Amino acid sequence: MQSIVDLTVEFLGINKPIKIKVKDIAGGHANEKTRCISVPKWAMVNEYYAIYYAVHEVCHYRALGHGIAFKLIEKNALAQWGIEIEYSRAYPKALSCNGERVYDRKRDKLY
Ligand SMILES: [Zn+2]
Repeated sequence: MQSIVDLTVEFLGINKPIKIKVKDIAGGHANEKTRCISVPKWAMVNEYYAIYYAVHEVCHYRALGHGIAFKLIEKNALAQWGIEIEYSRAYPKALSCNGERVYDRKRDKLY
């Protein structure tokens, strides 16, 4: 997971490194001061969703909130991993890779 974060940091032109911690928590978090992101354990059961989650938190160092600007950054960052996102508000309704649906919120029920 750290290498996913490192490459996303590089792609987004973030000038300081970010550390990732996988924790037994309900939701992820990006801490500006400690430059640490937390990703919940449950997100690790699907590798694409795990990448999505790590990328999502790193994108918060470029844009706060989940508005249009954030989504544009996130879409571009996910494209580096070959992942396409369909949104339901701020979060993915579905993730696809090479045209294949690799995560579907209704089907996979991760949260
Ligand atoms: Zn977020």
